[in-house]
Amino acid sequence: MKIYPDAYLKQVEDISIEFLNKHKIKALLLDVDNTLVDYTKKMTDSVRKWAKDLKGQGVKLYILSNTNDKTKIENISKELGIKYHNFAMKPLKKGYKKAQKDLGEKSENIAIVGDQIFTDIIGGNRCHMFTILVDPINEKDFWYTLWKRPIEKRIKSKLKINEK
Ligand SMILES: [Mg+2]
Repeated sequence: MKIYPDAYLKQVEDISIEFLNKHKIKALLLDVDNTLVDYTKKMTDSVRKWAKDLKGQGVKLYILSNTNDKTKIENISKELGIKYHNFAMKPLKKGYKKAQKDLGEKSENIAIVGDQIFTDIIGGNRCHMFTILVDPINEKDFWYTLWKRPIEKRIKSKLKINEK
């Protein structure tokens, strides 16, 4: 099992069009909790602008979230004007495959972006997609995420932050 991401960046806004072109990535699968929005479901203007800019450059964006809070995901999807699949059960392959089918891209041209190694990254690696780990927006976490953080920290300590 491959646990390491292909790239590690501090935040989604560091994913530039140059970076995506360099790695031949045409579509991004975006995690929501602690990747796009914080614990209080708030999205910053800078994330909003980043998503709009990439869309404008022709990058396909798609929300792939494990949450069962459909209203939250619907609001974000509407706001950004992008498709979503919630209750995706990452790291299982099913959700990634559905997203890939919707996007109509090859797996090597798709990147998953998320803050969790054990869901976002491992699932993406299993589907042979490019995997981008970002730091969680908040230090505060949901109780079901908390236990994994020390392990992630240890893995991250071996990673170098990629160039934007
Ligand atoms: Mg997350």
